[in-house]
This record gives sequence, C-alpha cells and structure tokens, in this order.
Amino acid sequence: MNTDSGLHQFFIIGGGAGGLELATKLGHKLGKKKKAEITLVDCNRTHIWKPLLHEVAAGSLNSYEDELSYMAQAHWNHFNFRLGRLDRINREKREISLAPTLDEDGNEYIPRRNFHYDTLVIAVGSVTNHFNIPGVEEHCQFLDTREEADRFHQLLLRKYTAAHTQVEPLRKGQLHIAIAGAGATGVELSAELYEASRQLVTFGLTNIHPERDVKITIIEAADKILPALPDRISQKTVAALNKLNIDVMTGKRINKATAEGLYTESGEFIPSEIKVWAAGIKAPDFLKDLDGLETNHINQLIVKTTLETTLDENIFAFGDCAACPMPGTDNIVPPRAQAAHQQASLLVKSMRKRLAGKPLTEYRYVDYGSLVNMSRYSTVGSLMGNLAGKISGNVMVEGVIARLVYISLYKMHQLALHGPLRVFLLTIADIITHKARPRMKLH
Ligand SMILES: Cc1cc2nc3c(=O)[nH]c(=O)nc-3n(C[C@H](O)[C@H](O)[C@H](O)COP(=O)(O)OP(=O)(O)OC[C@H]3O[C@@H](n4cnc5c(N)ncnc54)[C@H](O)[C@@H]3O)c2cc1C
Repeated sequence: MNTDSGLHQFFIIGGGAGGLELATKLGHKLGKKKKAEITLVDCNRTHIWKPLLHEVAAGSLNSYEDELSYMAQAHWNHFNFRLGRLDRINREKREISLAPTLDEDGNEYIPRRNFHYDTLVIAVGSVTNHFNIPGVEEHCQFLDTREEADRFHQLLLRKYTAAHTQVEPLRKGQLHIAIAGAGATGVELSAELYEASRQLVTFGLTNIHPERDVKITIIEAADKILPALPDRISQKTVAALNKLNIDVMTGKRINKATAEGLYTESGEFIPSEIKVWAAGIKAPDFLKDLDGLETNHINQLIVKTTLETTLDENIFAFGDCAACPMPGTDNIVPPRAQAAHQQASLLVKSMRKRLAGKPLTEYRYVDYGSLVNMSRYSTVGSLMGNLAGKISGNVMVEGVIARLVYISLYKMHQLALHGPLRVFLLTIADIITHKARPRMKLH
C-alpha cells in the first residue's frame, strides 16, 4: 500500500452494468468508513446502461436524459473517479496504466497516467465481434457504446429526411435495414426501428410510406432466432415480428458487406443501405496481451469461480469480459446484464472478505429467465422457477406481466446505483417528462 492514505487501493476498471454497481456499493461499505480507497476508471464521463442502447439507436430513448455522471455518482457514493482508458498493467509493480486522453480533435489533454493498486477488478465489458468478415467494419453500424448508438440514430434521421425530400424514386435498398444477428439485441432493435419509421412519418416525413419504402430484415446464422432461448420463445417472437412485417432469415451466414447491402454464403444479396451488426461479442482486444493474464479465444479473461483471474490473485474480472466457469457444465457464464449484476453483488462481499483475510465465496450463476421486448408491440420471455416463485423449470410470460418484469431489470440496476428514494423520484420525473415530449427523439 504505497499511497498517501495508506488504505488498501481497490481499482475497478469499467463503470458499466457491473462495474458501476460494484464501485457504488463498495464506496458505501468501505470508502465511506475509510476502510479502503475505491477508485473507478472509465473511458467515458457518463454511464448509460448498455441494454438500453438499441432504444437510443432507434430514438425511443434520449441518451442525454438517461445518462449518469461518473463524477457525481462518485461524489455521492464515496469513491474516486478517474477518466481514462486502461491499456496495460504491470503485475509485478501492481500498476495500471491509462492511455493519454484526447479531445475531439485528437489533442492530448490528459497524459498517460499510472496508478498503484492492491486489488484490481476488470469489468470492461465486450464489443461486437465482426469476425473479420469483409466490409462489415466499414459498412455496418455497431451498438457497443452510447456514441455508436447516437451515431446510428443520426444516420437514421439523415436517411429518412433525405428520402422524404428526394424528388426521384428511392433507390433499391435505400430505406431497407438489415440486422445481422437475431439475438435479443437484433430482435429488439428491429421492432424499435419499425416503430421509429412510423413515428418519423407521424412527425412530418410524410413522403415516406413505411409499408412500401421501408423493409427490415434480420439475418441469423443459427437455424432459429434467439438461439440461446427456448424454442417456444423463438416461435412466439417470429410470430410477433411477422405481424410487424419484419423479415426473418435463419440458417444464413453473412460473408460480405458493401455500401449497398449484405451477401450470404449461399449467394443471396440483401439490399440495405442501413446495416447493423449484432452477431456475437468478444472482449476488447487489449485484454489478450494484459501482462500475461490467461484469456480465451474471444479475449475474455479466464477467471475462477471466485472471479479471481487464474494467474493473479490480486486481479479479478467479471461481466462480459470474463470467462467464468459454471461448475458441472462445460459452459461459461453468459454475457448478460443479470450476470454482471449478480457478480457485482458477490464481489462486494468478496472484497470485504479479502480485506479481512477470509476465504472468498464462489459465484454460481442464477438464470432468472429472459425477456425480449419488441417496442410497444409485444414482450415475450420465460421466467425461471427462481423468479416465478415455487414453480420449477421455466414459465412462459408475455404481455403486460412480461413488460413489467422487463422494465424491472433496469429498475434493479437503478436501485443498485441510487437506492429506493431516488429511483422513485426518477420514475416520477420520467413519467412527467414523457408526457411533454414526442415519443421519439427527432434530432
Ligand atoms: C443493445 C443491447 C441490448 C442488451 N440487452 C440485454 C438485456 O435485455 N438483458 C441482458 O441481460 N443483457 C443485455 N445486453 C447485454 C448487457 O448489456 C451486457 O451483458 C452488460 O452490459 C455487461 O456488463 P459489463 O459491466 O460487463 O460491461 P458494460 O456494461 O459493457 O460496461 C463496460 C464499461 O467499461 C468501460 N470500458 C471499456 N473499455 C475500457 C477501458 N479500456 N478502460 C476503461 N473503461 C473501459 C466502458 O466505457 C463501459 O462503461 C444487451 C447488450 C446490448 C448491446
């Protein structure tokens, strides 16, 4: 502990679904009582819960209204915040190194900085895996960050406004949207985009006829959509998508993207000037060279069930960037917000045990089920016995109940960050301001 305060230094890298919850809770449990110093590092100044990004992309959510300032959260919850992007560590010296921070013009305004840690927790999430498929990086949109979701939204507005003002007929595929990957992100985004087309016409882009001009296609390599979910949910979801005229192609692997559209291995061309890639994830590339820590084929740091990295007991990893085994199976914990949330809660206890020199608890993933929300049209999913009370196995839910449970996932995250009173006030504020705004962000 070579710091001025002499306190144990906990560094958490990444203030996402998991990292911000951990920093907030540790701030209260340890930082407030001066039992340890907690520092959160993130490469952005504000947090937005990642599962909301498809709504930001479609415009149903304004990212500026739902973001949370790390500086404010740190101030209120007794931890430090450092702006910066981790790119290397020195395990021997127990030092992290943050790359220089640049402004929009590429000028450096914070030089490289190194910090000493006693315990390091890495929670840097994941990015979309484009599998080096030709053209995907250049021509497809991604939804990994708030900037990307905002950029996609601007592209959408430009495309629709241009089409509305265009005198000549629309080009083939001009307002066609292709989404690669029919996981929950792709499916939910498709329904949000369907709704967005209608809202844009309602709010004045009347030369566009959604039924005639807009076509949304989801392309999935597996033989069903939502491959990770039970068949019943896939089938229900296909039916709901069909009602919205959203085309679903399964068993089709994309092997090329161009400005005009996507090509499949079996030779089909899907004309689409707007393309989103949501097919698979990997952990950020820098993790594979993080001072020799063990990683898997998608760069995830391999951790034990205690969430300690396999080669260094002072470094923990969790959330999407970690490969945590599920005992008794060959599987690893899935990259989901509910796993990041559960692991953050476990790590709060583990970090206190670590300070007290007690053995750490092992993490067991508890699947509470999955819900797929198709804008205001439909929500379907299954709840596992744990959430559905005493019933064993999973229980299919849809309609209002499913929608309420879906909303409650975000509320649980908010509760972990703000506590019940602030969440109540934020919810009231949301209800009031929603009445005073268009359904969609139009700028
Ligand atoms: C559109 C979309 C919808 C989703 N919907 C759902 C859903 O309905 N249910 C569900 O369970 N899951 C959903 N997910 C998955 C879910 O968002 C992730 O599993 C979850 O966010 C993982 O949490 P995390 O804390 O590991 O990472 P993240 O929440 O991604 O946070 C990572 C943080 O690390 C920061 N960071 C990254 N690199 C660095 C670096 N080098 N240095 C410093 N900081 C860094 C980032 O800025 C970010 O704040 C969805 C994902 C997407 C993209």
